[in-house]
Amino acid sequence: MLFGILLSAAVALLAMGLVHVLVERRSPVAPVPPNHRLLNLATMLAWLMLNAAVGPLLVGAVAVGANRLGGGMIVLSDHGWGLAAGAFAYVFVADAGEYGFHRLQHTVPWLWSLHTLHHSEPHINSTSGVLHHWSAMIMRTAFVALPLGLLFRAPAAVLSIYFLSTLYVHFMHANSTLDFGRLSWLLSSPSYHRIHHSVEPEHYDRNFAFIFPIYDVALGTYRRARPGELPATGLEDGDRPHDLLEVMLWPVRRRLRRWNGLITAQ
Ligand SMILES: [Zn+2]
Ligand SMILES: [Zn+2]
Repeated sequence: MLFGILLSAAVALLAMGLVHVLVERRSPVAPVPPNHRLLNLATMLAWLMLNAAVGPLLVGAVAVGANRLGGGMIVLSDHGWGLAAGAFAYVFVADAGEYGFHRLQHTVPWLWSLHTLHHSEPHINSTSGVLHHWSAMIMRTAFVALPLGLLFRAPAAVLSIYFLSTLYVHFMHANSTLDFGRLSWLLSSPSYHRIHHSVEPEHYDRNFAFIFPIYDVALGTYRRARPGELPATGLEDGDRPHDLLEVMLWPVRRRLRRWNGLITAQ
C-alpha cells in the first residue's frame, strides 16, 4: 500500500515535470511564482498521507457497495483490441463521473465552498491539478468509483491505463498557450481548461470536462477558446491560500473571513 502511494506520487511528479519541460517552457502564458508550485506540491503530499489512512476504507466501501448492488455487469478483456476498447470505455465512463461531480461542485453551495480552493490559483500550472480540498477528493473518488464498480469488472491492465489517464490533469492545467483549435471538442487542452478557471463572468460554468469535452458539448456547457484568448484565472475576490494549514482548513478560513468582512464572495 505504502509502495503504491509512493509510486503514484513519483509518477505524478514525473508527469508534472514532463509537462513543465515539454509544454510550459514552449509558450507560457505568464511566469508562475515558485511558491505557488511548492504549495501545490505540499498539498499533494499531505493528501497522499491522508489517502493512506482513509483510502483503503473508501475503496473497500465502494467495492462492497458496488458488488451488493450487483456491480460488474460488463467483464472487460485483458488483451488485444478488447483491452483497448475496454480501457477506452472505462476512461470515458470515468469522465462522465468527473463531469457530473464537477458540475455539482459548481452548483451545490457547500461543495462550491470546497471547490473554490482549486479555483483560487491565479497562475494555473502543471501542479495546479492537485490543489483540491481533501474532503472533496474523497467524495470525488466515490462519485467516480461507484459507477465504474457498478458497470465494469476490469482487469489490472485496464486499471493501469485508467491510472495513467488521470495524469492528464497535469497537462490540462499547464501554464501554456497550447490550444487544439477546431479539435478542442475532442480533447481538453490547457487553453480549454483555462476558460473554466477564468475570472471573466462570460466564462463561468463552462468547460467542466476532464479529458473529453464532448460532455460539455452534449450538455450545453462547451465554450471554445478564441484564438489568443488567455483570460486571467483565480477567484473573483483574489483570495488564495498561503500555507498548508490554510489549504487544509480552506472552507473554515473562507467562512471566518466572510464573517469578518474580509471577503464578500461565497
Ligand atoms: Zn471547477
Ligand atoms: Zn482545474
